[in-house]
Amino acid sequence: MSSKENNLAKLVINGDRRALAQAITLIESTRDNHRAQAEKLLEKMLPMTGNSIRLAITGVPGVGKSTFIEAFGLHLISEGHRVAVLAVDPTSQISGGSILGDKTRMDKLSQSKDAYIRPTPTAGTQGGVARRTREVMLACEAAGFDIILVETVGVGQSETTVADMVDMFLLLLLPGSGDELQGIKRGIVELADLVIVNKADRDMLAAAERVAVEYKNALSLLRPASKYWNPLVVTCSALEGTGIADIWTIIGNYRAALSKEGSFEKKRLKQVISWMWREVDDSLLTGFRLHPSVKENIPEVEKQVEAGVLTPSVAAKTLLNIFKKGK
Ligand code: GDP
Repeated sequence: MSSKENNLAKLVINGDRRALAQAITLIESTRDNHRAQAEKLLEKMLPMTGNSIRLAITGVPGVGKSTFIEAFGLHLISEGHRVAVLAVDPTSQISGGSILGDKTRMDKLSQSKDAYIRPTPTAGTQGGVARRTREVMLACEAAGFDIILVETVGVGQSETTVADMVDMFLLLLLPGSGDELQGIKRGIVELADLVIVNKADRDMLAAAERVAVEYKNALSLLRPASKYWNPLVVTCSALEGTGIADIWTIIGNYRAALSKEGSFEKKRLKQVISWMWREVDDSLLTGFRLHPSVKENIPEVEKQVEAGVLTPSVAAKTLLNIFKKGK
């Protein structure tokens, strides 16, 4: 390994924030030489990863994610933890604006030396999903962050990918009835290990309690993802700080419940294998689409499929044969 990556890895592990930012930039880069450096770097950091709790926090814009993360993050820090926040934003561009991960959204948290907040751009990746978020998470763990919060907006396609890289999935809801009003995509409630009805304060308290009961009923009809855990529904006020400490207790209970018979570790092992295959799929597809002869033939083959001359399956085989020839 070149000494350059070695040094950078050492600096990250020693908690140097600039080195961590540099490492993340390398991980997120799409340039081939950066990718090679990032891979070496990750290999070096790997033994220092995994000692964290990884949480997804999902909810539509306006539900109170940043307010919640600020309150929750500060609570965790007060208990001696170090918190990294990775915001997966399907609308962000690498150089453009972003509705998540904006540091001004988490004012106090972003000033803490025990917090690290970073938007992770999804632009340019397959299906708009943050392919590199998982690696960024590993870099943060190597840098000593023991709680990783992955924030998503709950309206895109990122949630299932994110669910596949965290230990626990938290869904924030508003004090209003029905999924439609909540604006969340179907299927997201099924991913949740903990549903949190936020804004349970002032004149919204009763509505929040009502929504919590509704979701408790709805969730009781679903089959839980783990035999060791039934998803819970709680209320909180991120603004006033009520319910925040209880949520941390529930997360501890969740971890303890899943640790029974090694279920927590098993979940992580399943995730790394599924990640490996996702990487294989992505690399094959990218390699296929960028293959010069395949690229050259795609327009003609598509034309023939459109004209009904070729069936899609024969067309696919034709392109795959060109790819397999390797020229
Ligand atoms: P995000 O878009 O999901 O990150 O939501 P924000 O955290 O920016 O919150 C959106 C709005 O809801 C802001 O005006 C917050 O002050 C407000 N808000 C967030 N949490 C609460 C809460 O617990 N109670 C009340 N009453 N308002 C809240």
